[in-house]
Amino acid sequence: MLLIHNGTVLPMTFPLSVIPNGAVLIDDKLIVAIGSAKEIERKYADQITKRIDATGRFILPGNICAHTHFYGAFARGMAIPGAPAKNFVEVLKKLWWKLDRALDDDGVKYSALVSMVDAIKNGTTTLIDHHASPNVIKGSLNAIADAATQTGLRTALCYEVTDRNGLADAQQGIAENVACAERVHGRTGLAAAMGVHASFTVSDKTLRTCVAEAERLSIPLHIHVAEDAADQAHCLKKHGMRVVQRLDALGALNKRSMLAHCIHIDDAEMQLIAKRGAKVMHQPRSNMNNGVGVAPIERMLKADITVGLGNDGFSNDAFAEMKACDMLHKLNAGDPRAMGADKIVGMVYSHNRTIAQMFWPDLKIGALEAGARADVILMDYTPFTPLTAGNLPWHMLFGMSGGMVTHTISAGVVLMADRKLLFLDEAAIAVEAEQSAKRAWKRVADMAA
Ligand SMILES: [Zn+2]
Repeated sequence: MLLIHNGTVLPMTFPLSVIPNGAVLIDDKLIVAIGSAKEIERKYADQITKRIDATGRFILPGNICAHTHFYGAFARGMAIPGAPAKNFVEVLKKLWWKLDRALDDDGVKYSALVSMVDAIKNGTTTLIDHHASPNVIKGSLNAIADAATQTGLRTALCYEVTDRNGLADAQQGIAENVACAERVHGRTGLAAAMGVHASFTVSDKTLRTCVAEAERLSIPLHIHVAEDAADQAHCLKKHGMRVVQRLDALGALNKRSMLAHCIHIDDAEMQLIAKRGAKVMHQPRSNMNNGVGVAPIERMLKADITVGLGNDGFSNDAFAEMKACDMLHKLNAGDPRAMGADKIVGMVYSHNRTIAQMFWPDLKIGALEAGARADVILMDYTPFTPLTAGNLPWHMLFGMSGGMVTHTISAGVVLMADRKLLFLDEAAIAVEAEQSAKRAWKRVADMAA
């Protein structure tokens, strides 16, 4: 068994606790015990075969990212051709709907790989992805699944179904989700959802088919909801109702629904989400970057809605996302009492776990406890003020960052030790990715011209 010892253990179960001079004992894929290093050493002395000394370090569960887009990796540093996008719909048309179209097989693979390398380096071990590559729909999720298997990260996949490229593409998107769900069924490292882009790009017929297939396969339906006011305006004009009401009318709102953003929802929609038990994912850095508005997260939490935190394809530093979340809501409310680190830590370490559980109901993930998957990270964090269970969330938001992660362990496999990736050649992946990104950028420029 592998013993990680002499560090400060943060189990991240609730109520929060801090175990100084603690240890985590791992047998194969599972955590056997957590607690005081001395006690665990005494009890399991004969069975310990490997050790990681975590002196001066913190031991935490690997982070869960509730909503990301690996394919967005190639947007980093890319000049968007033409006049700057002046609103969200233009951001989609000028950037994302060209970049996704520019991806070939290689682009799908390398954008996923670089995102996963970033996840390992920032201590994120479970990722829920939402993929688009209209020129290579068939097999795209398989390519990402291969990357996930290669990197050792737990990944839930889906393809974004949309009618914006015609009905044949929508059908292919649905088929890709179905094929993925059938392929990954029962596997512990991979899972699938039915991906849908957003209300304003799918017809009733397409959405109904997605709902039926998701039901048949018992998989979540993962869709963007009211990320911009344009989604609501379109829905009101075309369907005579608001987005969440439309989803409900078409059977797309239930306990397994995953609604990304929910920025422009009203009280009635919020109540409907709560009543149906649908889950919401919040991506504050992306929302700020797109200038789309601020989701009413505190009101959703008050309404007992499960609200997870994702990154929408931004860096996989969950600590940066948490910090941004706190500051966005304080600034927006004009009130330093708004949100708070405790609520955000609750979203990340409790609600994200609930969301991940929909994909892997038989696994315990996202916490350090006996019987849980051994997804463990070590952090080189040296607090210079008292750290207690009571103020831990504030240390996490204002002291910790992804760059402090020294070790990342996923299902008992050490993927990174002392910031060195053990199974992946980061430099070689970056070289390949850069070549692939150059080709994608050229295609984007050609499309714009
Ligand atoms: Zn998204």
